Amino acid sequence: MNIENLLRGNIKTIKAYSSARDEYKDASSDMVFLDANENPFQTNVNRYPDPKQSKLKERLSEVKGVKASQILLGNGSDEVLDLLFRAFCEPNQDNIITLPPTYGMYSVLADVNAVDIKKVFLNDSFEPKVLEILASQDEHSKILFLCSPNNPTANSFNANKVEKLLQEFKGMVVIDEAYIDFSNQESWVCRLNEFPNLIVTQTLSKAYGLAGIRLGICYASEFIISVLNKIKPPYNVNQLTQDKALERLNNLEAVTNEVDSILKERHTLINKLTHIPFVKKVYPSDANFVLAKVDDANKRYNQLIENGVVARNRTTQPLCEDCLRFTVGTQNENQTLIKILNQLK
Ligand SMILES: *Cc1c(COP(=O)(O)O)cnc(C)c1O
Repeated sequence: MNIENLLRGNIKTIKAYSSARDEYKDASSDMVFLDANENPFQTNVNRYPDPKQSKLKERLSEVKGVKASQILLGNGSDEVLDLLFRAFCEPNQDNIITLPPTYGMYSVLADVNAVDIKKVFLNDSFEPKVLEILASQDEHSKILFLCSPNNPTANSFNANKVEKLLQEFKGMVVIDEAYIDFSNQESWVCRLNEFPNLIVTQTLSKAYGLAGIRLGICYASEFIISVLNKIKPPYNVNQLTQDKALERLNNLEAVTNEVDSILKERHTLINKLTHIPFVKKVYPSDANFVLAKVDDANKRYNQLIENGVVARNRTTQPLCEDCLRFTVGTQNENQTLIKILNQLK
C-alpha cells in the first residue's frame, strides 16, 4: 500500500513554514533571544511555545508506548481531524466514509472541506457492515472513520471487523478512540506498525478531565506524522495547554481513580435506568455515557430540562429513535438523575 499516493497533490510537495522557534530550538537555554519579536518582559507566557511540544510528546510516548515521532498534537481532536482532511482529501473530488450513528464532526469537517460523505449505517447491533463498507469505496474514498467506542452508541466495534477493514480498505482508516480509557478493549495504538494506513486519535477531553485546554492526539506512522507536521499551524498547542497536560500526565493515579469511579457509577446507572418504567432499553456501554431508549425522547428530554438536568437527545440520529444519551456524572449527579426520572409522569 502506497500511502504517499493517497495524499493530495499540493501536500506531497509542500514545504513547512519555518518558525523562529524551529530555527533555534533550545528555548530553555540562557541565550539572549532576539529572534521572534516577542515582548522581553516576563508574563510566564511572553515567549512562543515549543512548536513540536517535545516534552509533552516524550511523556505521552512513555505513557502510551508509542515513539514520539509517531505522535502529533492538536488544538483538540477537532483540529487533528481537520488536518487529516487537508492532508488526504481533494476538495470537490474525494470522499470519506462514515458509519452513522456516529460523532457529528466527521461530516461537519467534510462539508467544510468540500469533501463528499458516503454513509454506511451500522447494523442493528451497532457494528460496522464490513462488506457493505468495502463495496461502497471507490478510487476517491480517502478516509474511513471508525469511532470505537462509538459516540452515541457507547459500544466498541468487534476487533475482527476492524482488523478486516484495516486490511482491505484502500484508503486511510482513522480509529477515533476518544473513549478508550473507559473501554475493556485494547487501544489500536499497539498495532500501528502493522498497518501503514492506520491512524488513531485520542483526546485529553474525556477520561483525562481536560476538555477546557483542548488537546487532541494523533498516532500514525512516522511518514504520516511528518506530513501532518508540515501543514499544522506552527504554534497550534499553546503554552498553558502544554503545561497543564504535562502536569496531568505526571499524576496518572488521579486519572485512574476518577476513571475507576466513573466505571463503578456507570454500572450503577445502567442498573437503575433499567428499572425506570418508561425506559425501553439500556444499551451496553464501553464509554463514560449510556444510551437509553425511552417511550418518547422529546417529552422526556424536556421534562428533564424542567427539572434541571440536561441530557442529550439523539432521537433524530439513525437507529437511535427515542434515545437519550446520559453522561456518567458524579455519584450525586447520577442519583439526582435517577430520582427525577422516577418522579416523571
Ligand atoms: C468528545 C469526542 C472527541 C473529543 O474531541 P476534542 O476536540 O478532543 O475535545 C472526539 N471524538 C469523539 C467521538 C468524541 O465524542
